[in-house]
Formats: sequence, C-alpha cells, structure tokens
Amino acid sequence: MNAAINTDSAQRAPSYYTATLNDSTVYPTLKGTQEVDVAIIGGGFTGVATAVELAERGLKVAIVETHRIGWGASGRNGGQVTGSLSGDEAMRTQMRQRLGNEVDDFIWHLRWRGHQIIEQRVARYAIDCDLKHGHLHAAMKSSHMNELKAAYAEAERRGMGDQVQLLDRAAMATHLQSPLYLGALKNLRNLHLHPLNLCLGEARAAQSLGALIFEHSEVLEIVHGARPAVVTRHGRINARQVMLAGDVYHKLEKRQLKGKIFPAMGGIVTTAPLGELAAQINPQDLAVYDCRFVLDYYRLTADKRLLFGGGANYSGRDSRDIEAELRPCIERTFPALKGVPIEFKWSCAMGIVVNRIPQLGKLSDNVWYCQGYSGHGIATSHIMGEIMAEALTGTLEKFDTFAGCKHIKVPMGDVLGNPLLAAGMWYYQMLEKLR
Ligand SMILES: Cc1cc2nc3c(=O)[nH]c(=O)nc-3n(C[C@H](O)[C@H](O)[C@H](O)COP(=O)(O)OP(=O)(O)OC[C@H]3O[C@@H](n4cnc5c(N)ncnc54)[C@H](O)[C@@H]3O)c2cc1C
Repeated sequence: MNAAINTDSAQRAPSYYTATLNDSTVYPTLKGTQEVDVAIIGGGFTGVATAVELAERGLKVAIVETHRIGWGASGRNGGQVTGSLSGDEAMRTQMRQRLGNEVDDFIWHLRWRGHQIIEQRVARYAIDCDLKHGHLHAAMKSSHMNELKAAYAEAERRGMGDQVQLLDRAAMATHLQSPLYLGALKNLRNLHLHPLNLCLGEARAAQSLGALIFEHSEVLEIVHGARPAVVTRHGRINARQVMLAGDVYHKLEKRQLKGKIFPAMGGIVTTAPLGELAAQINPQDLAVYDCRFVLDYYRLTADKRLLFGGGANYSGRDSRDIEAELRPCIERTFPALKGVPIEFKWSCAMGIVVNRIPQLGKLSDNVWYCQGYSGHGIATSHIMGEIMAEALTGTLEKFDTFAGCKHIKVPMGDVLGNPLLAAGMWYYQMLEKLR
C-alpha cells in the first residue's frame, strides 16, 4: 500500500493514481536502432501484459510508448476487475458457429481468466497495487434484481456458489450506508486495485525478464515486410513481429482500422480521506458498480478516500465539469458525504467497439493488433495479452476465435462514429427507463 502523496509525477496525466504511484522509473527515449523478436506499440495493460507473457516465454520484446507507461486508460481507470466481459452476448452468438456447444464454457472460463493472471502476476513479481477482493453489483430496480438472480444461479451451477451471495435490501444495509439499492450480488472473486501501480509493476516485471521499454517515443510508422519495424522520431526497432496495442489513442494503420473503435470519455473524482466515515459507508471495503447501462462505480482507496466514477461522454470530446457532474451522484449514493471535499478529478478516453467484442486481428503477415474493451479492460487486457502471446508464438486457436468475429466498420468513422455512439447510448438510456 502506498497512501503517501507523491509529487514526482509532473509528466503524467494528473490523477489520484499519479499522486500515489510507487515506482517513479523513467524509461529512456528510443534512439538509434534496436533488434528484437517482438516490438509492441503502446504501454498500457494490453502492451505490457503481452510483453510479460512473451518475455516469460523467452522472447526479446520491446515496448514503445508515446507518453509514459500507464499513461492511457490503464493508469486512469476505476480499478475494478470484474467478471463482466464486454460483448459477451455478441460473442456467444458469433462464436457459437466455431465452438458449437462449448461456447458457453469458453465464455465462462474467459470471464475469470484475467483475475487469475493478475493475482498470479502480483504474487510472482511482488507488485504493490493495493489488491483486494470483493464487489457488489448493485440493483436499483426489480428488473436489475432479476438479472442478478440469473447471474447468481449460473455462478452456483458452475461451482462458484461459495464466492457469491444475493443480498436483499435488509442485507444491503449492513454492506453500504446508502438508500439507493434494492439489493446486490456480492462477488468475492472480483478484485479491485490501484491500476497504475499494477501497470508499472508489470512493466518492471517485463524489464526484469529482459524487455526493453521506451517512453516519450511515439511510433510514427509501422514498416511492413519480411522484417517489420516501428519507426519513431529518433529511432527504429526491427522485429520479427509487431503488435499494435494503442487502443483508442493511436492513429496508425488508418486504412484498415479507421471506423472500428471510438473514444468515450469517462470521468472520475476522488474525495479527501474519509477517516472513520469510510468504515461507516462501506464497512467491508467492497468495490461497487450498479446495474444500469450507463453506470456509477466506486470504491475506497488504500488511504480511505472514495474514488467515484460515472457516466460517459460519447461525444469523444473532453468538455465536462467532472466534479459538478459527479458530486450529486456521490451525495445521492451516500448522504453522509454531503459537502465532502473533492481532491482529485480527471477524465480519460476508453475505446468503444460497436458490438463490444474485443478486436484482435492481423494487419499483415507479421503485424498484429488487439484493442477495444468498451470500458471493461483490466481483466480483458490480461486475457488478451495471454491470447496474443500464444498467437505470436504459434498457438492460434483462441486468437482465431476472436479474429473470426465480424465487426462493424463505420464509414467516415471520424465524422460519424461518435454521433452514432451517442445515439446508441441515448437508446440504451431509454431502454433503461423501460427495464
Ligand atoms: C474513466 C475510465 C474508467 C474505467 N474503469 C474501468 C474499470 O473499473 N474496470 C475495467 O475493467 N476497465 C475500466 N476501464 C477500461 C480500461 O481502463 C481499458 O479498457 C484498458 O486500460 C485499455 O488498455 P490498453 O492497454 O488497451 O489501452 P491504454 O491503456 O489506453 O494504452 C494505450 C497506450 O498506447 C499508447 N500509444 C497510442 N498510440 C501510440 C503510438 N503511435 N506510439 C506509441 N504509443 C502509443 C498510448 O499513449 C497509451 O498509453 C476504464 C476506462 C476509463 C477511461
């Protein structure tokens, strides 16, 4: 745990996480030419987790990052590691053709694989990231409760009954001091953590296994061919294979990737430390997210602040007054926190895919990409890191299952993508009212 506020964070996007990071290593800028097996573009969870997997398999890897490791969504998210895979229903439909009746088992195991990878990695490399167990998936109306009952029944049927519990309104009162909820599904397999410290810890693990890491090194071009390369302003890395893991932040390979993924801005605030109030409002220190399509999510930090995120801005522009939007949500959720000081606020883009299925694919024989977790990326990026590492070392089964999924590519995606997403979210908010 590192609750002390760190001031050595000037070059990072400001947030509670930046102020409490516990590894201030600055990796060098790429200069000159390097030779590796795999060059990875992007130092978020997708790039870093894949690098660890490949380095553990003995490959020489390089990560090349425009800003700092964990600068993107990976270092600025809600820190909730849930089993709710984005796009699971669409996956079920699309993958049934390839997997037949095994599709349900495939998705169920995938749902929890990221948790296993993260827990094992944290233990193996002694990563200090405030890792804790326990979530409440909270219901605000009876239709939500019905969905939670179905999820509970599936968990029981699958042998996970000892880790889940259905809470009614009375039981909720002993878990959260909030008037909002009818009940919840309590899940002790789910995790919450300090995502920036996890990402930095994994980068350090990759480096300890021989990976090269470069910060402040934007990849300007991918050179395709028998020996592909990534090119930055001051350097070049020749590789046997290249993987693009820039999610919604990269502008590379537009001919093939434009119109496939769109930014949605998410805002998060963090209160001042709550002291004894923390145990009063959330005595079991659980992470909470509600059942709405556009949801609120929150948890306590190691130093007992409330870290609260909510809504999403599908215009693709970062124009919101985050505190003005989220303070009423906090006070509605916890009346005891009326007037609580907000000490940190930030926002960040997440990559949204129309059908919500993560996008894995190849841009040429030895250039791969992996992106688009639609707001559910901590576990998913680690699952995809494993699948991509398998693929890059010759085991293509799971990669092909994802790469075979069809995705909508919005024509004139730069212009139409976000208005279409905004319209889609409006539609879902209408559906929520009818739910
Ligand atoms: C506000 C918010 C809250 C969220 N909350 C949760 C949550 O609680 N739980 C959850 O599971 N998920 C959550 N997510 C989603 C999750 O954070 C993301 O899905 C995940 O971190 C994506 O990881 P990534 O590595 O693919 O992308 P990123 O972390 O965005 O990393 C991409 C990196 O690529 C770099 N890059 C781009 N182009 C180039 C280039 N040309 N050269 C070099 N580098 C480049 C970028 O600088 C960036 O650092 C949230 C997201 C947001 C925005």
